[in-house]
Amino acid sequence: MSDPVLQVRDLVKHFPVFKGIFRRRAGSVKAVDGISFDLNAAETVAMVGESGCGKTTAGRAILRLLEPNSGSVLFRGKDVTQVDQTELRELRRYMQIIFQDPYSSLNPRQTIGQIIGTPLLLHGIVETRRDAEDRSKELLEKVGLQPSYTSRYPHEFSGGQRQRIGIARSVALNPDFIVCDEAVSALDVSVQAQVINLLLDLKDEFNLSYLFITHDLSVVRHIADHVVVMYLGKMAEKASRAAMFEGAWHPYTQALLSAVPRTQPGSKRTRVILEGDVPSPINPPTGCRFHTRCPLAYDRCSREEPKGHVVGVDHEVTCHLYEDRTERLDLIEAMAAKS
Ligand code: SF4
Repeated sequence: MSDPVLQVRDLVKHFPVFKGIFRRRAGSVKAVDGISFDLNAAETVAMVGESGCGKTTAGRAILRLLEPNSGSVLFRGKDVTQVDQTELRELRRYMQIIFQDPYSSLNPRQTIGQIIGTPLLLHGIVETRRDAEDRSKELLEKVGLQPSYTSRYPHEFSGGQRQRIGIARSVALNPDFIVCDEAVSALDVSVQAQVINLLLDLKDEFNLSYLFITHDLSVVRHIADHVVVMYLGKMAEKASRAAMFEGAWHPYTQALLSAVPRTQPGSKRTRVILEGDVPSPINPPTGCRFHTRCPLAYDRCSREEPKGHVVGVDHEVTCHLYEDRTERLDLIEAMAAKS
């Protein structure tokens, strides 16, 4: 297998918190706290977790839209966290993002032709406005929209159409890698399916790699090759899609998966409802950050931070249970046995 397109190692992004009239530093929000994963060419890694788990911050830190505190992000052999602004601008051509909100991610004062065509001129991919306009028309057709829309403005389109325009803009520069940050969450379910299919078609056509950030595991099942599960800034588990859906180890992953409808008709799944809210990332729980909500927590969990353990091919879990038991524990069976 060729080298991964992207190698993220021990990535950390904390935000300082200030208090009082002198704005003294009172702590930090530990939004992303040491995550590592690889993304191979033409593959999709889905990053999942509840809101506030740090997945959007991770996506932005990888692109250096937010400056990481530490860690490395190797892309095309370069550490994105170390390059200067000129090199970063050049690399950004190959690393794009599709934002969640199709309503605010397009400049309302620019025509669709300008939104898609201006980056082409800025990066020297085309030389004249006329060429930029022609390429914008081709790209609109590729994402299923009328070429004549280049002269219109964003407010003239529906949410699904705007997201298609955002996708046309992100593939215009012929990137290798796109962060899709909750790219279909704001859309109706029927439109979501169309946009996911469009993303899959473009992935094949342009050999794209996606980091697909989402809270929706039903979407993950359709789009991901690998899955990274985040909880409070930490990586709980990472695995291939099949390993994750068939044999997740981490109690948090198993709880998330219990909420996903089964695909086989007639089969039922017992749903695990996690109690309480996600704790504050300013003062996360000691030991395992999940211990305050974990139905399987035991005394070690609040004292000691768990390490990552390799439990299979490309499958890693951050939980003490791996060390303290000899086989995988099924959360639902374990909870039934407890009650
Ligand atoms: Fe639950 Fe303990 Fe594993 Fe954390 S380390 S997931 S609290 S069993």
